[in-house]
Amino acid sequence: MRDVAPWREPVPAPGTMGEPRARGRFGEYGGRYAPESLVEACREVDEAFREARADPGFRGALAELLALHAGRPTPLTPARRLSQELGVRLYLKREDLTHTGSHKINNVLGQALLAARMGRRRLIAETGAGQHGVATATAAALLGLEATVFMGERDIERQALNVFRMRMLGAEVVPVTTGSRTLKDATSEAMRHWVGVTGESHYCVGSVIGPDPYPWMVREFQRVIGDEARGQCAAELRTGVPDHVVACVGGGSNAAGTFAGFADTTARFVGVEAEGGAGAARGRLGVLHGCRSLFLQDDDGQIVEGRSIAAGLDYPGVGPEHAHLRDLGRARYVTVTDEEAVGAAVRLARTEGIVPALESAHALAWVIRAVGGGDLPAGSTVLMTLSGRGDKDVSTLKELL
Ligand SMILES: *Cc1c(COP(=O)(O)O)cnc(C)c1O
Repeated sequence: MRDVAPWREPVPAPGTMGEPRARGRFGEYGGRYAPESLVEACREVDEAFREARADPGFRGALAELLALHAGRPTPLTPARRLSQELGVRLYLKREDLTHTGSHKINNVLGQALLAARMGRRRLIAETGAGQHGVATATAAALLGLEATVFMGERDIERQALNVFRMRMLGAEVVPVTTGSRTLKDATSEAMRHWVGVTGESHYCVGSVIGPDPYPWMVREFQRVIGDEARGQCAAELRTGVPDHVVACVGGGSNAAGTFAGFADTTARFVGVEAEGGAGAARGRLGVLHGCRSLFLQDDDGQIVEGRSIAAGLDYPGVGPEHAHLRDLGRARYVTVTDEEAVGAAVRLARTEGIVPALESAHALAWVIRAVGGGDLPAGSTVLMTLSGRGDKDVSTLKELL
């Protein structure tokens, strides 16, 4: 429960959340640490992405998919009863209302469309709880692509429903039996598999991690959250900009997409990590899955497995741009416990009629704690991204409540 990162005055930040510097650098983080054949594949993805984002045809096609298939724009909901109880003005950006139930669909539709444009016929993905796998299988079906999803054997046992969903959507789910048989190993396995098939398959990374260009490409595909929210705040708030912008952080994609919409404002950014997956708050410099960033490590520099009640938050590291934003003091990273998150989920359900994903509940738990502790002065306006809906977590909650 320590708030580790320094808390400086926010910098209205030219130079942050734009394009990374050469070779995908965010300060000392990022880069492209991969075998030669993947370096070439990443170069191709980078080139295709730069072309695509400059092409009105691509942007129009993606906007149409996001509107007609994913249900964008999502609402900005004032949390009226909870705001009154807390003494702040809390607004929720409702990614839980997207098709498939979380923000992951924004990124996946972008990458699937890019893969089709590059002439790839198959998507490769890794998944932990199965949310990114389901989103990938969904986008593949929609665009007539194949999908191969790598998933740790332990996660396959724990997430039977999502495994069935992926198969129902026509995806192949490949069990990963190496290491701890969870997300970290599934990611390694997916990258290994990609080496042999880069010409026909696109590796669809699920968060702002991995080798360049993935961290900033995924952030750009998630920017739609922040851009929409910015416009909605302009209409809702007297100042047009909230005092605080808050989101949960696993790898950091929903937070990065949200922050990006407010990068040029004085809004204070808060990224909320799980106590057991606090890459930004407690990680150390290292290289994993193709990029240099902050990772949980033991004294020998071995990566430590993350652990959280929210499967989407137990990645043992954080995206390189978050590490950089932390160093700049532009964003602050805090942690909350499983118990705090569960409490926040129940409170949101009972005050606003919304059952959030346990990941999203972490962000709310910080808001609730910060109000009590004086970090959020009375009357502050807070924009919080509600990254997903809680249906996937009801069996976990049922055992606790
Ligand atoms: C995957 C997931 C997250 C964590 O991923 P980020 O890349 O940090 O956004 C958060 N919330 C939900 C609902 C998720 O499915």
